[in-house]
Amino acid sequence: MASYSGRPSSSHRLPPHSSTTNGVVNTQQQQQQNARTKMGSANSRRSVTPTSRTRSPPQDNDPEPGRVRVAIRVRPRNAEELSDADYADCVEVQPELKKLKLRKNNWNSEFYKFDEIFAESASQKRIYETVAKPVVESVLNGYNGTVMAYGQTGTGKTYTLGKMGKDDVSERGIMVRALEDIIANTNSTSDSVEMSFLQLYMESIQDLLAPEKINIPIVEDARTGEVSVPGATVVKIEDLDHFLQLLHIGESNRLAANTKLNTESSRSHAILMVNIRKSVKSDEEPGSSFQEKDRKTDRHGNQIPIVRKSKLLIVDLAGSERIDKSGSEGRLLEEAKFINLSLTSLGKCINALAENSPHIPTRDSKLTRLLRDSFGGSARTSLIITIGPSSRHYPETTSTIMFGQRAMKIVNTVKLRE
Ligand code: ADP
Ligand code: MG
Repeated sequence: MASYSGRPSSSHRLPPHSSTTNGVVNTQQQQQQNARTKMGSANSRRSVTPTSRTRSPPQDNDPEPGRVRVAIRVRPRNAEELSDADYADCVEVQPELKKLKLRKNNWNSEFYKFDEIFAESASQKRIYETVAKPVVESVLNGYNGTVMAYGQTGTGKTYTLGKMGKDDVSERGIMVRALEDIIANTNSTSDSVEMSFLQLYMESIQDLLAPEKINIPIVEDARTGEVSVPGATVVKIEDLDHFLQLLHIGESNRLAANTKLNTESSRSHAILMVNIRKSVKSDEEPGSSFQEKDRKTDRHGNQIPIVRKSKLLIVDLAGSERIDKSGSEGRLLEEAKFINLSLTSLGKCINALAENSPHIPTRDSKLTRLLRDSFGGSARTSLIITIGPSSRHYPETTSTIMFGQRAMKIVNTVKLRE
């Protein structure tokens, strides 16, 4: 395997009030843990509801638990497209019918159905509320969840997920809005919200909060199946401003690492990992990490609150454009192989989930190994497919849409002649 040693010359440092734990619970957290245990003894006696040891779907209104939800978003025309005299659109959206029309030429169009279709005018707020908020709510209820963006470079993946909206908060993307909701729904003294920010480039995990850390291993707990990256920096998020600072540091380090390597961010996956520990009463929904033996009582028989663990992954995938391996050599050829490997293995897992297959082949790449416990079963996954409107990109747009269609497992594409 090619070794990756992309260290930016000047890395961006963490803000002073960050308590980095490097995967080890720090003193402050230990104190909180103790405080939680103490709180438990003050709890009144409660009846115990039997809970299965196996993961069960979230007890919410999800009619199709486990299915990947697929939305598609069309980016508005950019400056180049606006000034292009030969510009032609190849997409037309019919959001109310949840259909998208892709025009090959004047005679051939195809219609595709998605769970949600977002036209150029769709706001960041609407996209968050429709696509990501149900995942965040499920994570706050103790289940793991993933939001991913897949599409050709330049179609709006980072805008949709990572936009910070420094000048205009209405432009904030899914990461900021998700953290805003998580912070508002956790208790700053009894609960903890921690994050790591990673980049996956050529099958090597790099820490975007401490870019000197590269080749960080993925660890899977043999008993619980829990996936973690204990070598990565873990920061306890204090408030939204703190999160915005961390996001800024991560984005700057991503840019610096890619500049140093003379590559583009489109070649790597960026993964925001948010771990939540919430102290809940034992008759509340216990979450997917719960096991019956976790239910404890104090010496008076009172239920001690359960610490409910859950994880949210927000994944800004590498550009989906096919990278031509034929003309490439050296690192570019290696890059192409690795990107194709991770996106293909992601596609295989999503297809297996769509087919309700008992075996999800997550072992093939680091990307899918990272997603292993946040995928299928009781976990909720939303996939946002991003496309541009121009007919110049018709071939790539078609292949991006087909990826989304396989995830939807909709086979009845209608071909129309006009
Ligand atoms: P990607 O991450 O898929 O490569 P970006 O998110 O960087 O693409 O988007 C490319 C450019 O298009 C950026 O300048 C971004 O601000 C702009 N852009 C993308 N989507 C939108 C949108 N929905 N509204 C306005 N500008 C957008
Ligand atoms: Mg991007």
